[in-house]
Amino acid sequence: MIEIQDIHKSFGDNHVLKGIDAIFEPGRVSLIIGGSGSGKSTLLKCIVGLHQPEQGKVYFDRQEFTQMDSEDRVSIRRDIGMLFQNSALFDSMTVEQNIVFGLDMFTDMSKKEKIDRANFCLERVNLKGTNKLYPAELSGGMKKRVGIARAISMSPKYLFCDEPNSGLDPATSILIDELIQELTGEYQCTTIVVTHDMNSVMGIGEYILFLHKGEKFWEGSNEEMLQADVAELNNFVFASPL
Ligand code: ATP
Ligand code: MG
Repeated sequence: MIEIQDIHKSFGDNHVLKGIDAIFEPGRVSLIIGGSGSGKSTLLKCIVGLHQPEQGKVYFDRQEFTQMDSEDRVSIRRDIGMLFQNSALFDSMTVEQNIVFGLDMFTDMSKKEKIDRANFCLERVNLKGTNKLYPAELSGGMKKRVGIARAISMSPKYLFCDEPNSGLDPATSILIDELIQELTGEYQCTTIVVTHDMNSVMGIGEYILFLHKGEKFWEGSNEEMLQADVAELNNFVFASPL
């Protein structure tokens, strides 16, 4: 479980996050949604520790992350799997090497164990046999799946995905969502997905945190979101100019 309390983050005079509270439960997919510039990525970065919030607390399973020194943070980071926007693969490394690289940093597995683990994860995301290919030889959807394989290679307790559907066609997008949902059940991890994709919201949004101008605008499940007035406001926010 991840709990955030009263998160504030500013860049100069730009007060981007204005006191966000939320609880992200294990074993379910939580989504952070909202218009462009509403603070979604900033909030995810505050949770992962890439940004330090000026005020507020982040707890990973009741341990306060915001106050930890960098050494203690490593033990939490080991349990985090992250799918970056644009997948962030190393172009000069094969698919297998991309996954082994993460395992090198955080585990003391033998070389063979790392390669076996990488291939197990590739199989899990239906990419068996692609281990010797380079990222340039893959489609966008395949790259996302390699990114997911890398994110799950450490059997994460916390899985974070920033815009996993961006640049994908609707059918591939649904497959990626289903994969994220399946893996969340399998690892019982606390999964947080930042997305613009309303199909994802309706498909996998068991808990949705809706940001607007740096404030919590709404929270609830996808079923609750289907209620007319929320949907109307949602159209309004998503339709607002970038
Ligand atoms: P999008 O949907 O377009 O990705 P977002 O909701 O993820 O938008 P953020 O990237 O969190 O929005 O940005 C929120 C605000 O914070 C924007 O006004 C942006 O300019 C500002 N911002 C984000 N990161 C930085 C940074 N590193 N330095 C300065 N300002 C930043
Ligand atoms: Mg963003």
